[in-house]
Amino acid sequence: MQIENNKVVSFYYELREYLGGEETREIENNRKGDPLVYLHGYRNILLGLETELTGKEVGDTISVTLKPEEAYGLHNEDAVSRVPLKRIRQKGNLKPGMVAQIQTSNGLRDAVVVKVGRFNVDVDKNHPLAGKTLTFEIEITDVREATEEELAHGHAHGVGGHQH
Ligand code: ZN
Repeated sequence: MQIENNKVVSFYYELREYLGGEETREIENNRKGDPLVYLHGYRNILLGLETELTGKEVGDTISVTLKPEEAYGLHNEDAVSRVPLKRIRQKGNLKPGMVAQIQTSNGLRDAVVVKVGRFNVDVDKNHPLAGKTLTFEIEITDVREATEEELAHGHAHGVGGHQH
């Protein structure tokens, strides 16, 4: 069965950051757990990945490299800002590089801690993968028809998908 719109697809992936030349660095992979499961054609995963997965079958392995603008966007320097410590949700043990939740006028928002001061914290509200060229090594492990309920919800259900 080929991957096309309204199919539910399972895959293992290894996500690597492309560093130039032949160099890459592994960011994460889901080899030790369950495959990721998604409903094809509903933008539940990055569009660049969906495009490359279209027409592939169980057992196929593909390598997809996406530029920042095709993945999580360019790194925006304006998104780095100084916020009062009292607007950070977790207290204590704030360290550069960790993701913290900040109280904003639009509710809680994730941001990466850049620098911790006595009263303020510099945070970067860019997506942690913004500005990175990413390579996904993908192995397709299952392709099936979506259920009517999945189509109505616009996402896959079950292990590796939405569970509600
Ligand atoms: Zn659902």
